[in-house]
Amino acid sequence: MKYCNNCQRWIEPIKRFNWAVFLLGLFLTLGIVSWGYVIYYFFMGGRCPICNSQNWGIPSAKGESGKGRLSTVWMCPNERCEDTSELKEGDICPRCGSAAEDIPILKSIELVNRKVAKRWNKILILGGLILILVFLLLAST
Ligand SMILES: [Zn+2]
Ligand SMILES: [Zn+2]
Repeated sequence: MKYCNNCQRWIEPIKRFNWAVFLLGLFLTLGIVSWGYVIYYFFMGGRCPICNSQNWGIPSAKGESGKGRLSTVWMCPNERCEDTSELKEGDICPRCGSAAEDIPILKSIELVNRKVAKRWNKILILGGLILILVFLLLAST
């Protein structure tokens, strides 16, 4: 069990194997993306089944932090940046240098989803480039 900061509850992290990515990779990139994904899947940690994030923490025992503090999360506000870790007030994103913003939980989930989608786009684009490269190599022989 892990405590999800976003959902404010204990949850069992889950891993979901994305067959669509695996099969598409098989057909479109001769398996290159598929194997990359299998390796990625092997190493990636479980995610919260509710908000799909990896924002683990420890529940605050004392309820003094109740007023609004629990309903926002400090994180990198930059949609184009893949960083989804929780930051502290005044922190700077380790990846893109944006100042952390306190984002309402619901919005932060949306933001994390967009960031994760960005990551996948990058992987798929990379797969496409590799495919083109393979074709060029085949064509030149
Ligand atoms: Zn969650
Ligand atoms: Zn960032």
